[in-house]
Amino acid sequence: MKTKNSNERDSQLKEIRDEVVALTSSPLYAYRTENKYFPVIGEGSHTAQIMFVGEAPGRNEAKTGRPFCGSAGKVLDSLLGEAGLKREEVYITNIVKDRPENNRDPLPEEIKIYGPFLDRQIDIIQSQVIATLGRYSTKYILEKFGRSEASQSIGELHGQVFEAESSYGKVYIVPLYHPAAAIYNQSLIETLKKDFRILSKFK
Ligand code: URA
Repeated sequence: MKTKNSNERDSQLKEIRDEVVALTSSPLYAYRTENKYFPVIGEGSHTAQIMFVGEAPGRNEAKTGRPFCGSAGKVLDSLLGEAGLKREEVYITNIVKDRPENNRDPLPEEIKIYGPFLDRQIDIIQSQVIATLGRYSTKYILEKFGRSEASQSIGELHGQVFEAESSYGKVYIVPLYHPAAAIYNQSLIETLKKDFRILSKFK
């Protein structure tokens, strides 16, 4: 597939933003508007080599419209540092673009509604590496790329590199624990650091 130029990427990503903003059919739309929340589309380089895919926005993210800007974001920032990566050189997004009530797990129908926006972001940005944060994005991405490991747990998958064929060529999928997991379970931080260091070889 032809590589997109910068203007194409910017305008196609803006189309996604406009469509998500206007997504009145989402079961999370009323909750968004009642709370004066924003959808969280994604942030970072539109030509990023590495794309991170989290789960769904939390409260801070929905208040600002920015991914990973709360406590999980602080952990993510330090893990990016571990891999020698800066936020502005990667792209960070989630599967579900609106905050689920009280940070509950995303429901299958929400993943179904928002997943196609993520698929389009992947095709537009064309990152060589998709690093999945947590079990929901890991399962979604491995399934999307036809990897049979999609049924395995994040405990089994984290820190491995899976090759797949995308619409724009070879892609490497790197499942990682969700950074928030390290807030609740301090012992995971060393594992996360080790796993993030894998990403430094794709810079
Ligand atoms: N957790 C996520 O999965 N995504 C965010 O943007 C913030 C917290």
